Amino acid sequence: MAIPALRQPKLSGKLQDFSQTVAEDYKNVVVTLKDNRKLVVSANAYQGIVKAREMFKCVFCGTDMELDEKYKDNHIDSASHKERLRAYPHMDEFGENLIRKLNNNIHYCTICNIVMASPFLMRHITGLSHTTELDKAMIRGTAYDV
Ligand SMILES: [Zn+2]
Ligand SMILES: [Zn+2]
Repeated sequence: MAIPALRQPKLSGKLQDFSQTVAEDYKNVVVTLKDNRKLVVSANAYQGIVKAREMFKCVFCGTDMELDEKYKDNHIDSASHKERLRAYPHMDEFGENLIRKLNNNIHYCTICNIVMASPFLMRHITGLSHTTELDKAMIRGTAYDV
């Protein structure tokens, strides 16, 4: 008896590529949206840690750190950082774009791991670099679908 098409395991090269990507980056965060879709972003992006020249910078706390994973991990684990992160939730109205509002003038895009002035927010979300990164995050998220 033939196996129904839908039940056949998908072994396309593409699918294997995706699982490799997820396995390689062990420091990923899986974000589950309200409609249960999943996005995979890097832990740095999720935590608001940007690499600036010779240092790490936490955009939520305004803290500069030596370019050392240990300092960074300590910072991410700190109670004050966790509190800040809770204070800047991803905004519902931007859904899967994962935008946090730092203040009236500054927003942070978790998908792209960048800070931007608020007047540029809409242009950023509709721009090619953001939509490309968002697509990647979505595709990687499908690996976590059950
Ligand atoms: Zn912080
Ligand atoms: Zn973005």
